[in-house]
Amino acid sequence: MQSLCEHHLLPFHGVAHVAYLPGNRILGLSKLARVVELSARDLQVQERLTKQVAGWLQQHLAPRGVGVIIQAQHLCMSLRGVRATGSRTITSALHGVLREDPRSRQEFFALAGVT
Ligand SMILES: [Zn+2]
Repeated sequence: MQSLCEHHLLPFHGVAHVAYLPGNRILGLSKLARVVELSARDLQVQERLTKQVAGWLQQHLAPRGVGVIIQAQHLCMSLRGVRATGSRTITSALHGVLREDPRSRQEFFALAGVT
């Protein structure tokens, strides 16, 4: 994903991991990427972007569980003061089974490479 930080008007980019355990409705894989893309189009902060994607899926699919993890690098972090080049910010939003069941949560985080 890529987006624009609303605080500094500088890009942040990285990877969004999206998981859901379907209820009655399922969604095409390309649609998942599209939800991320559309939410990232506005000026954003990473935390809100993460919550918006999870919230959209929760609302439109009524799944048994939803998980979104975003790992991103912020240009405002590497350019300003700290010069924390290469550092990644990780945010997550979880609903349903992925929030409540530790094993499902761990599986998702492990698949996403976040431990
Ligand atoms: Zn920023």
